[in-house]
Amino acid sequence: MSSSCAFCRIARGEEKAYVVYEDEHVIAFLDINPISEGHILVAPKRHYERLSCMPSDELEALARGLQRVLVMVERGLSRDYNVVVNTGRGAGQVVMHVHVHVVPRYPGDGLRVTMTQRHRLTEEEAVRVLTKLNEAKAGTGS
Ligand code: AMP
Ligand code: ZN
Repeated sequence: MSSSCAFCRIARGEEKAYVVYEDEHVIAFLDINPISEGHILVAPKRHYERLSCMPSDELEALARGLQRVLVMVERGLSRDYNVVVNTGRGAGQVVMHVHVHVVPRYPGDGLRVTMTQRHRLTEEEAVRVLTKLNEAKAGTGS
């Protein structure tokens, strides 16, 4: 738990937030600069920088909390939404405390949350990526 981290302070109740869901491990609150109405952040109460750092039981608790929030969104706001986790500054992570964005989508909202810049996968690229990942897997011993 860090006092310099806004989401740790929210989890401790020290900073104002519009909390929509909370349990022992997870807190979900409205984003202060929403992309769409009902933009929610779902975060573990304990400070982890990225999903890959989290113990599996905490990750399971986060998934359960996220699912509860998604059902609330589906029933109360919209059945259409984007779920996004920015990880690392190069991927747009600004708050270095794991959080899952839930961005409800509405007809004609004109948002572009989707991944649009694409290219056709080539055999060469696929082999290159699989080689790197298989080496990484071997390196982790799993
Ligand atoms: P990211 O770029 O994935 O790290 O997203 C960080 C998000 O946190 C942004 O969408 C911000 O608008 C949001 N945010 C930052 N500070 C607060 C806060 N105190 N309360 C609610 N949302 C916040
Ligand atoms: Zn934190």
